[in-house]
Amino acid sequence: MADLAPTTVNRDRAIHSLTGNCAACGSSTTKTCSGCADASLVVGLDKTFYCGHDCQKTGWAAHKKTCKDLKARKPLYQAGDLLRKLWLVYRPNIIIVDVEKVEVQDRVITFWESVGETAYAERPFAHHLFSDDRIKESVLSAGACGDATFNMRRFVLDMLHGMCDEMEEITVKIKNPLRIVRDFRRFADDPTYREIACNRCQLDSMGNAVFENNGGTPDWQHQVFRVRLRATKEYFVIDLTNAQYGRYDSVIPWNDYLEERVNVVKELGPLGTYDESKIGGLKDESGTCYSTENNIRYLDLVQFYQARMRFELTKWRAENNLDYNSLLELNKAGFDEKSQQLADHISSALAGLREAAFRSGDYAMNWRTTSDPEECGKIRTQHLKFLASHKIASRAAELKNWW
Ligand SMILES: [Zn+2]
Ligand SMILES: [Zn+2]
Repeated sequence: MADLAPTTVNRDRAIHSLTGNCAACGSSTTKTCSGCADASLVVGLDKTFYCGHDCQKTGWAAHKKTCKDLKARKPLYQAGDLLRKLWLVYRPNIIIVDVEKVEVQDRVITFWESVGETAYAERPFAHHLFSDDRIKESVLSAGACGDATFNMRRFVLDMLHGMCDEMEEITVKIKNPLRIVRDFRRFADDPTYREIACNRCQLDSMGNAVFENNGGTPDWQHQVFRVRLRATKEYFVIDLTNAQYGRYDSVIPWNDYLEERVNVVKELGPLGTYDESKIGGLKDESGTCYSTENNIRYLDLVQFYQARMRFELTKWRAENNLDYNSLLELNKAGFDEKSQQLADHISSALAGLREAAFRSGDYAMNWRTTSDPEECGKIRTQHLKFLASHKIASRAAELKNWW
């Protein structure tokens, strides 16, 4: 089998190349163009080398546009890194299943999960099952591209509205995955694990996974953001959940993305296009979609965490005296340090929120299912009160039957 931990090739190489050939005279040197050296590291391209001032002057006309473009791309690539870090600390709080076991064989990551056995928030995400962060990221992202779209679009907008003049949501069909993730689920009242449909396959009448064929490859439908950088008019994809396909870069030039990874572009529209009410698209073994009520409870849950994350992001930026522009323009070392601090801050704030919701007796937040009508009524009342006290508008109020 080929290398199993692929990343952007250029990124690692660029970090390690300390010497190169002068772009003007070709002699070997360690000196780089100071204008774009840091941006080259961030974007994942080789640095431009000049042996001295004279050669830099000679080469400037040829290098000027590249230098400027790299500097313009840097904050976008750092925004992609930050969005991914935030998604990865956010996601474990809203995942509504218990991951029980993970196995990696060649390019296939398989995990087993249960639903409804323990209350939501009673058992936090099973971080201990993972010794490799990339495997964990792949599992957290499995079948979660739609979730990332509607959970993260607000933050894409907050970070990029000045930097990008177009922001879109796109549905594509993926080709050439470097890894695949298979997800086997059981329910509290049925101990049989069945492979769940996700976006990439359907289940037959026996509950076996059937892969749709699309030109000989399975049908991996995937949602991403596409943005246009105002300064250069270049299009880029921001893909926060490509770890489910074994890729771990967040910002990819649109043309490269199409060529390397996409079979078909299915839908393209402004931010907000992806309809989160579709999240019930996961099918059970009888081919039935999960109920709308489940979706609405899930949407309440994520609204709640989103609002809290946005609040904490604002608070942290004020305390650190860093608006998004200043944060994203930091040099790579400074940005890596600050963005990690920010992600750690959000991680502990959300974990605290999760515990508080559980302790407060908001059972709906705890995601326990019940068939007792009396308990259902109680849960619903408490849930709505809890949401109202945190100023969260709830679609649950529209429901006639809570369960
Ligand atoms: Zn030279
Ligand atoms: Zn330069």
